[in-house]
Amino acid sequence: MLKVVLLSYTPAPEEIISKAAKLCYSPKNITELEVTPADQKRMVRKMFSLGHHSTLEHAAFTFGIEGISRACSHQLVRHRMASYSQQSQRYVRFDQPFEFVTPDTVRKNRKASAAYRKIMKSLHEAYRAMIEEGIPAEDARYLLPNACTTKLIMTMNARELLHFFNLRLCSRAQKEIRDVAAAMLSQVRKVTPHIFEKAGPTCISYGYCREEAKDCPLYSRLNKKPSTAGL
Ligand SMILES: Cc1cc2nc3c(=O)[nH]c(=O)nc-3n(C[C@H](O)[C@H](O)[C@H](O)COP(=O)(O)OP(=O)(O)OC[C@H]3O[C@@H](n4cnc5c(N)ncnc54)[C@H](O)[C@@H]3O)c2cc1C
Repeated sequence: MLKVVLLSYTPAPEEIISKAAKLCYSPKNITELEVTPADQKRMVRKMFSLGHHSTLEHAAFTFGIEGISRACSHQLVRHRMASYSQQSQRYVRFDQPFEFVTPDTVRKNRKASAAYRKIMKSLHEAYRAMIEEGIPAEDARYLLPNACTTKLIMTMNARELLHFFNLRLCSRAQKEIRDVAAAMLSQVRKVTPHIFEKAGPTCISYGYCREEAKDCPLYSRLNKKPSTAGL
């Protein structure tokens, strides 16, 4: 089952980001810089309107993610401005049948769902047979499917998270990674409300659609004039 946990983050993320921005425009020393909660809200808005997005890199967020498929984790790790530690299929052997993700389309189709479960079972049996033959787990794993679940710890800074949400909360992104992104956003928003206030697909953040997805329910709500204030 999917589990997404915000494990840790830069303390007072909006304070450090606002201080970094203030420093750029202030003659004061570092230790004299002060930002009130009201300043933070104002500074965050100003940084977005100026496009001063590098200040967002001072706050990092670490998530534990469990129960996603290897197909999903492969999409996740394409985001290069992040750090990852993923459970190894070389060092961790599946003695019990491996857990796997079943996409909703398969789950809802009785015939497809039965065939899917059957192939997962025989893949596990084939994997076990390899292990019993003395084949190392790192080679037996070649039999494991994309559906097989994995777990990882991932760290992204606020700038990369906004970019990630633009791409992966879009209705065109695959459901599994959309669910991961939605769970991440709901947690970072609680601790960083101003920065992630308008986080989401580009239609929500910036008023334009990357995908020109005219059949998407959000498309009709777009501003007619696209904003170019994106990252
Ligand atoms: C709907 C969708 C469909 C996709 N389909 C495919 C597919 O069919 N095949 C496929 O291979 N991939 C596919 N991808 C993955 C996609 O190409 C990207 O690899 C992935 O979304 C990571 O995004 P990114 O490269 O913008 O950003 P990140 O890696 O998250 O980096 C953030 C930003 O940093 C900058 N950056 C990072 N690295 C570099 C660099 N080396 N040089 C210059 N600038 C850099 C860029 O501005 C980049 O946008 C798909 C993604 C989506 C959302």
